[in-house]
Amino acid sequence: MTTNTSPIPSGHLALGVDVGGTKAKYVLIDVANCQVRLQKAIPTFCAMPLDDWPSYIQTDDSLQDVGPIAIAIAASHVAGGVQKTSKFPKLEGQAVSDIEAQLTKVLSRPVRIIHDGTAGHLAALHEDPIRPSSSAFLAFGTSIGLSLCLNGGFITLPYNCWVSHTQIAPTFAFDERTCELCNQRGCARSVYKHYIASKDAAGLAQTMAQLTINLLNTVPLDCVYLGGGVLASYQLYQQVVQRVKPCVLLDANCTLRPVPKEEIAGAYGAALFAAGY
Ligand SMILES: [Zn+2]
Repeated sequence: MTTNTSPIPSGHLALGVDVGGTKAKYVLIDVANCQVRLQKAIPTFCAMPLDDWPSYIQTDDSLQDVGPIAIAIAASHVAGGVQKTSKFPKLEGQAVSDIEAQLTKVLSRPVRIIHDGTAGHLAALHEDPIRPSSSAFLAFGTSIGLSLCLNGGFITLPYNCWVSHTQIAPTFAFDERTCELCNQRGCARSVYKHYIASKDAAGLAQTMAQLTINLLNTVPLDCVYLGGGVLASYQLYQQVVQRVKPCVLLDANCTLRPVPKEEIAGAYGAALFAAGY
């Protein structure tokens, strides 16, 4: 899928690549005005060794007009190292700074790594005319990603994020399965993964709503952006809003917002991060 190719000035573009569980999405933007010049998607290369990444990042397009690059990955990376992850088995334990240095050297331009949830959050804030000072981004994709920006500062930038094994007992008492990763009974992630496997739209909506309610009732936020491929493909946004409304003291209509540019939010946010926005 390639769209919107137009004449471009040399060296004025930033590239964002969002490497997800099923697809790798690419967005090229003008550094000057953030306009999307090109977007496309290919099957993901998340399980490939890092040595192979430059060929996927370069793909069929020359990088000659591209300056900075940022790559969004769906893996937590804290204290300098990529955490245990099934999606990026070949990156596990590697320091993010080493990954960036290796790709920067091979591709001959600055390459940075950002968490995909944080990248989507950056995109949402950039497109929001209100620009709330405290907000969260919940990404309902293959797994659940959470990015937080409090009082104007991302507490998830540049590398960290929370993969949401959140459980605030007894709110997840409607489902009691135990998470094999965090060992909590009723962990949001394990409940969510169960409903994805069973393609249970109502269960998914309830899980998404409960996690949103927990977040809104715990952290002082102006806004929560809801996004991710599963939310979009099941068209659950309105269902989630309806379920959240009775359970929070805030006005759910203005507190909850769908992520703009949903299809490319992660890659677009990565491109914005690369360009220094
Ligand atoms: Zn868990």
